[in-house]
Amino acid sequence: MNAPNAPQATPFSSTTNILEVRNLSVEYASASGTVRALNNVSIALGRGQILGLAGESGSGKTTLGHAIARLLRPPAAITGGQALYYPADGARHARPRNAPDDGQPIDILQLSGKQLRAVRWSTLAIVFQSAMNALNPVLRLSSQIDDVLKAHRPDMAAQERRERANELLRLVGISPDRIKSYPHELSGGMRQRAIIAIALALSPEIIIMDEPTTALDVVVQREILLEIARLRERFNFSVIFITHDLSLLLELADKIAIMYAGRLVETATRAELKQQPRHPYSYGMLHSFPTLRGPRRRMTGIPGSPPDLRETPAGCAFHPRCPMAFAPCATVLPKMRSSSAETPQQLVACHLYDATYASGSLPTNAEFGARYEEVYAQSRLGTRRAVAEDVR
Ligand code: SF4
Repeated sequence: MNAPNAPQATPFSSTTNILEVRNLSVEYASASGTVRALNNVSIALGRGQILGLAGESGSGKTTLGHAIARLLRPPAAITGGQALYYPADGARHARPRNAPDDGQPIDILQLSGKQLRAVRWSTLAIVFQSAMNALNPVLRLSSQIDDVLKAHRPDMAAQERRERANELLRLVGISPDRIKSYPHELSGGMRQRAIIAIALALSPEIIIMDEPTTALDVVVQREILLEIARLRERFNFSVIFITHDLSLLLELADKIAIMYAGRLVETATRAELKQQPRHPYSYGMLHSFPTLRGPRRRMTGIPGSPPDLRETPAGCAFHPRCPMAFAPCATVLPKMRSSSAETPQQLVACHLYDATYASGSLPTNAEFGARYEEVYAQSRLGTRRAVAEDVR
């Protein structure tokens, strides 16, 4: 058994990162007060790796993706932090044309509009959540791919652009004879592939994929995941893959970051998370979805709902829903720290791993499972009592 361990500062510290987000904070101004959508979030994306970003709705994962791509619009505002891009030596898209070549990383959040245009698509592309909304419904695929190439590669001749468009469709498994199709003439899976083709148009080094398979059935979902893995292998781009379905990430991601109420709560490799999620929320998320393959297992889900970000609970924001909560959880904010000596890179924000508050052995999957079952048994009993009283 492991014992609680000392704090550690940086998730996934490595010299091979292509992107490091440091202490990023985002706020939304609203009539009823300020909403802190992201709170000092730090993540690192390894070169050629897939980083999964998971959490329920409102956890901040999409806000994080959009903040990195500089797509947030008022009333959202980035209130602090950096998104450092490390160009590879000799890479074709090493630096935006007008960024200083001083060997330093480039903070995407500080780029001017002109510099940002040079980075978008050619260095950093994004695949949006709904393919039907992301594609223009009144333009054929050919025009939509051509528009991107024309805008960002003005030196390309029309014939070259046509050839590139056909090549892109082939890459994502769409027959080039569909190039004249309108989006409504394609299946959901083909539309999502088309979006991925457009994202690949300028061979970006980083692709942010925001729930790219959410609207698809499991068979097509699996095909798209395999396609992404195959393309990544071939072109060595890096991916931030955003989803609420943690079990998907266990199939695809190299590393996984889990968010709750605008903060990171756990970062781990896929193998570490599969073996032993450390945060009670991660355990709950893993047992909220069936896995795409493997033996059948009991689903527990997570009781309750995510908090209203205008009134985030004090201490650990998860404490009202946490089956493991104990005395300090309602008042003290847990910090990200190494979860154990055996898995020093698996970081977790939970007092169960802080020697100041907890001692003895760390919780196991069996203990997490038993505590979730207890909470469910109580909530079912509570619901039955409430219904019985209503009937009376
Ligand atoms: Fe649960 Fe407390 Fe850990 Fe938060 S800090 S996840 S409430 S045990």
